[in-house]
Amino acid sequence: MTISTRAERIVILTGAGLSAESGLGTFRDKDGLWTRYDLNEVATPEGFARNPVLVHEFYNARRANMLAASPNAAHHALADLQQFAPARVTLVTQNIDDLLERAGAREVIHMHGELTRALCAACGHRWDAPEAMQPADPCPACGAKATRPDIVWFGEFPYHMERIEAALANADLFVAIGTSGNVYPAAGFVQEAAFAGARTLELNLEASANAGLFDETRLGPASRIVPDWVAEMRS
Ligand code: NAD
Repeated sequence: MTISTRAERIVILTGAGLSAESGLGTFRDKDGLWTRYDLNEVATPEGFARNPVLVHEFYNARRANMLAASPNAAHHALADLQQFAPARVTLVTQNIDDLLERAGAREVIHMHGELTRALCAACGHRWDAPEAMQPADPCPACGAKATRPDIVWFGEFPYHMERIEAALANADLFVAIGTSGNVYPAAGFVQEAAFAGARTLELNLEASANAGLFDETRLGPASRIVPDWVAEMRS
C-alpha cells in the first residue's frame, strides 16, 4: 500500500534536485557554480556589504543560467497536478529559479526569494530584476543605490513562513522533492506536517538527511519519479 492517493490538501516542498536535470546545479554538484564561490561571500548579508560587485556577478550568472534553462518533466508534472487534481496543491520551493512558473504552476511560494526580483536594501521596495544587476542601479522608488537580488541569504528569515505554517497545519499529505534536508526551517517541515496528521513522502535521488522521518521514500531522478507519482495521484 503506497501513500494515499485520496489526499485533499497536499503541500509539496521542492529543492535544488527538482531543477538539476534542467541544468541548474545543486549545492552538491561537483562542478556546480556553488563550488566556485565561497557561500559566505556570495550568500550572506555580510558578504554583500563587503563586495556587492562579486555578489551581483554571482546572481547575474545564476539568472543567465536560469534564462537559458527549461522546465523538465518534473516541473510539468507538478504544474499538471496542481491544475487537474481535485486536491488543493500548495507548492513551496527553496529554489530561486522560475521553472515551476514556466511549466504553468500557480502561486508558487518562494521561501528563499526569486532571481527574477530585485529588492532595495534601503527602503524595501521590490521590482522585476533586469537580466544583469549592478550595485549602482538606483531603486525606482527611493533612488538609493542599494539594489540587491531579492534572495533570502544565510542568516536572514525565509519569506512567507505564516502561509507555509498554515498550509502544513492543514495538510493531509506532505511531499518533499529533491531537497537534502540540511537547510532549516524547510528541513523541519516534514515533522510539522506529521505532527499535524499528514502522511509524508520523500522523492529524491538519494535519501535525504532526514529520510527516516518520512512514511515513504522513493529514490530516482526527479524527471522520472515525480511524473510517476503524479500519474498515480491522478489514476
Ligand atoms: P541541496 O543541493 O542541498 O540538495 C539537493 C538535493 O537534490 C539532494 O538531496 C540530491 O539528492 C537531490 N537531487 C540531485 N539531483 C537530483 C535529481 N536529478 N532528481 C531528484 N533529486 C535530485 O539543495 P536543497 O536541499 O534545495 O538546499 C537548499 C538550498 O539550495 C536552498 O537555499 C536553495 O535556495 C538552494 N539552491 C537553489 C537552486 C535553484 O534555485 N535551482 C540551486 C542550488 C541551490
